[in-house]
Amino acid sequence: MFLLQSDKSCPLTNLIKLVSQVEVDLYEVLEITQGATKDEIRKAYRKAALASHPDKVPEGEREAAEIRFKAVQEAYDILYDEEKRQIYDTHGMGAFNGSGEPGMSGGPDLDDILAQMFGGMGGMGGMPGMGGMPGGPRAQRPRKSPNEEQKYEVKLEDLYKGKTVKFASTKNVICSLCQGKGGKERATAKKCSTCDGQGFKQVLTRMGQFLTPSTVVCSTCNGDGQFFSPKDKCKKCKGKKTTEEKKILEIYIPRGAREGDKIVLEGEADQVPGQEPGDIVFHLVEEDHPTFKRAGADLLATIDVTLAEALTGFHRVVIKHLDGRGIELQYPKTPGQVLSPGQVLKVSGEGMPIKRADVRGDLYLTVNIRFPDEKWQPSAEILENLKAMLPKPDPPIHADTVDEVDYDPKGNLDDFGSQDAQGGSAWEDEEEEGETAQCTTQ
Ligand SMILES: [Zn+2]
Ligand SMILES: [Zn+2]
Repeated sequence: MFLLQSDKSCPLTNLIKLVSQVEVDLYEVLEITQGATKDEIRKAYRKAALASHPDKVPEGEREAAEIRFKAVQEAYDILYDEEKRQIYDTHGMGAFNGSGEPGMSGGPDLDDILAQMFGGMGGMGGMPGMGGMPGGPRAQRPRKSPNEEQKYEVKLEDLYKGKTVKFASTKNVICSLCQGKGGKERATAKKCSTCDGQGFKQVLTRMGQFLTPSTVVCSTCNGDGQFFSPKDKCKKCKGKKTTEEKKILEIYIPRGAREGDKIVLEGEADQVPGQEPGDIVFHLVEEDHPTFKRAGADLLATIDVTLAEALTGFHRVVIKHLDGRGIELQYPKTPGQVLSPGQVLKVSGEGMPIKRADVRGDLYLTVNIRFPDEKWQPSAEILENLKAMLPKPDPPIHADTVDEVDYDPKGNLDDFGSQDAQGGSAWEDEEEEGETAQCTTQ
């Protein structure tokens, strides 16, 4: 951050004057003399970068190595460029770095740097990714165009069975006429005068009373540093280098996939000249299901059983599974067992499939016993018979005083505590908890 100055004649000079720095001697970092040649700088850089690469040192030294590696990278970047080297020699690090620490301006991934260094990618010079100016866009130009991330909602049925989805997509592809050049075959691009061919400009952005230096992409040339005059522009893409193309894409959702899983269509993102195309990445979102709840590979559902069935047993389809199969079961397994409300029947191997495996999770069925409603009008004789057949009541409760009371047969627990100014709100909060507790403890 920089104190606001009224002198706007030259932002870069102001930057150089204003920045306070922790001085780092770049020659020392590379272990070379002030008079080193470009060749010596390059060799020293290779040596130092290899020696300080965090993957090449013991774990305890990794953090220090990482800092040193970045410093080496930055030292090379500045000293190998003649113009930057001269600025450094006259003004020091202050001319380059707003943070005061070498290499902390968010450069590219270490492995990327190494791949470019030693992967035979066209030598040491002109490394993308390491513009020495504070956070220049060159420093951020990635080797891969950005991924397109999006959510994809999936029904539980589709996660159970697996599904192939096709859809039409529009994406930018490199222009087939100019191969991404943007201009006619023999035309040459003109250097952008707005940014002097750099592709970016230094600006000072006001943040409160401070001015913060930042680098913006040149709007005249869109960061290319050059452009074609209107008559030289490619006819097909009109100089944009890419054209829109419709494409049918297909994704496969494997059976057993779950919320948060990613499905990647490699290289299907928009194409950008000079970069590998990024991926389209779908993040699966599981839709709520009216019948089944899922936890990992297990499924939970509620089955309705009549009171008569709970008492006398049944042998029937109790639920339709996610693939449409009827799930049939017989209760009880041995005669004489009664189903209780909230009892759980666990069906092994009928849960969700597990990806790339032949096993499945389990299905948990919670029993809901449907008691007869008003439509059931048994005769007095039937009720007498039932009473005689069913287990006898507990022994009577003895008390010294007994009051016979009237009551509302349709009481509502929402009213519980509601006449009390303080108690009412407390009940509201507990309502949900109370309900689930009721279901599970019965
Ligand atoms: Zn074109
Ligand atoms: Zn420009």
